[in-house]
Amino acid sequence: MSDIIRLLPDSVANQIAAGEVIQRPASAVKELLENAVDAGGNNIELIIKDSGKTLIQIIDNGCGMSPTDARMSFERHATSKIKTADDLFRIRTLGFRGEALASIAAIAQVELKTRRLEDELGTHLIIEGSVVKSQQPCACPAGTSLMIKNLFFNVPARRNFLKSDSAELRHIIEEFQRISLVNPSISFAFINNGKPMFQLPHSGLKQRIANVMGSGNLEKLITLNQETDVVKISGFIGKPESARKTKGEQYFFANNRYIRHPYLNHAVEDAFKDLIPEGYFPSYFIFLEVDPGHIDINIHPTKTEVNFQDHTSIYSILRSAVRLSIGKYSLSSTFDFENEQIFDYNFPKDRPIVVPGVDIDPEFNPFVKNPQSAMRLTPGGSRQSPGNSQWEKLYEGLHHENVEQQPAGQTMTISSDFGTDTKADRNFMQFQNRFILTKVKSGLMIIDQQAAHERILFESYLERMEKNKGMAQQQLFPQTVKLSASDTELANELIGEISLLGFIIEPFGPNTFIINGTPADLPNENVQDLLENVLENYKKNQLGLKLDRKSNLARSMAKNMAVKPGKVLMEDEMQSLVDDLFACSVPNLSPSGKTITTLISAEEIEKRFTK
Ligand code: ADP
Ligand code: MG
Repeated sequence: MSDIIRLLPDSVANQIAAGEVIQRPASAVKELLENAVDAGGNNIELIIKDSGKTLIQIIDNGCGMSPTDARMSFERHATSKIKTADDLFRIRTLGFRGEALASIAAIAQVELKTRRLEDELGTHLIIEGSVVKSQQPCACPAGTSLMIKNLFFNVPARRNFLKSDSAELRHIIEEFQRISLVNPSISFAFINNGKPMFQLPHSGLKQRIANVMGSGNLEKLITLNQETDVVKISGFIGKPESARKTKGEQYFFANNRYIRHPYLNHAVEDAFKDLIPEGYFPSYFIFLEVDPGHIDINIHPTKTEVNFQDHTSIYSILRSAVRLSIGKYSLSSTFDFENEQIFDYNFPKDRPIVVPGVDIDPEFNPFVKNPQSAMRLTPGGSRQSPGNSQWEKLYEGLHHENVEQQPAGQTMTISSDFGTDTKADRNFMQFQNRFILTKVKSGLMIIDQQAAHERILFESYLERMEKNKGMAQQQLFPQTVKLSASDTELANELIGEISLLGFIIEPFGPNTFIINGTPADLPNENVQDLLENVLENYKKNQLGLKLDRKSNLARSMAKNMAVKPGKVLMEDEMQSLVDDLFACSVPNLSPSGKTITTLISAEEIEKRFTK
């Protein structure tokens, strides 16, 4: 049998590669705008028809190309922007892969006119599906004009896959905005189906943001500025009161390139926390400048995800820079500036200082229709006010209904059924070392021991932090704890809250903390493991949930400290667990929303015995 492996023709290879780089008209717009910016002119025009499906044209007054370069630019891996692998660590241009023009030419009809300033004549080149149809000298302005007609003309599957005109146009506008925002010194025009959509004269950054995003932005922007060895941060953030319900106006640029960065986004949102309502998002236009050798942009051809070498430091610097800017702007906000740098600002002497606060009703019980009647039972069972909540009734039943009031036989039956204990006054029974069974007036209650304990601990940790009640117990032998770099960062951020819980903890050299005391009620725990687990849990909660620091920490601690299934509980332990549970403000749900108790009514049980 003859050999069967062969190299693909360039046109096919390019078409396959195009699938990666050019997914829709907006991807072509992005690539061409980037080339135009890299070409170094100060005027760029974007003209499209039918949301780019029939025509995308970009005209720039940049450096232009020689006739040979014009031809070369459509070869795969042909670029003027890098020469060696080392150059990958010095990238200052937007392009560097040399893939875009080759990809576009493989799946569209392309017409290029280009001239260098020093040349008398320019070049006119027509390519269709990677095939050069003609190349001739021509008279044209200095710079480059590239026309892309009928994108995906030879890839019907891709063409059919395109969304509605308005959806494709939205994507194009997005790309246009990202590039025009970061290049205010270049004037841009964008014409769609013969109508101007944007006319952006060259201007300062703030004016450019207003021209691109709407003039309403001018008054709502606060300046952001912070220069460090690791990163230079500049740009604008929206005032807290201008926060929006959508994430639309959040822009990061790294070394003049639009990037997406959920981790850094978190730094900004965290800095805004407590200042904007739940479900609202701050606006920001943030420019980061780092040494090109410390950023990896070579991740995906569409290049919006990047990796920073110093991402944890950048996180902290960014967060504190944003907090500083908000603080400078917002004279009346009482901010926790402990960890921020000192800066100069004066309160107007006669202006009253308003302390923003959150009203919490500690009596609130979501299971009671009329919150006024909600009653909280303290662990000792002492009542603060009369009430009629269902929880109170259950709790009452639990305490008043003891064995003496029961016909003797009943207790015996249950006890002998489980075959463990025949003590006459038994009120609690553990099932599968996981559930606590106990009888209440209306039936049989089953309590998930872990969920119950998590609820109890969560409320108690939270209260400690809120009321500064954490009791520390000095350790005879201080322990040192070594954490990973990112956990160290987080622990530093949370050190105030961790201390409120009752830890005496201090940074102690690189990535190390010294623990001089632990909460008085902490059983003999390995503090290293505990801290690591709690921080891990904290990070997990950060991903999906919008919790404030204290709630998150209280949750994470509770999760780690709660009794686990499999732990055998003594009668008095069960007793106090149930007492404590019913002293909680939400006794039926664990902090993460798990059901804690369930009730099998007496009728339900009876029914099972009718024939
Ligand atoms: P890359 O931008 O990654 O280098 P492209 O395929 O986008 O790859 O472009 C290939 C080359 O064509 C560029 O490196 C550049 O030299 C040249 N080029 C593309 N567009 C322009 C333009 N508008 N003006 C001048 N040169 C251009
Ligand atoms: Mg390019």
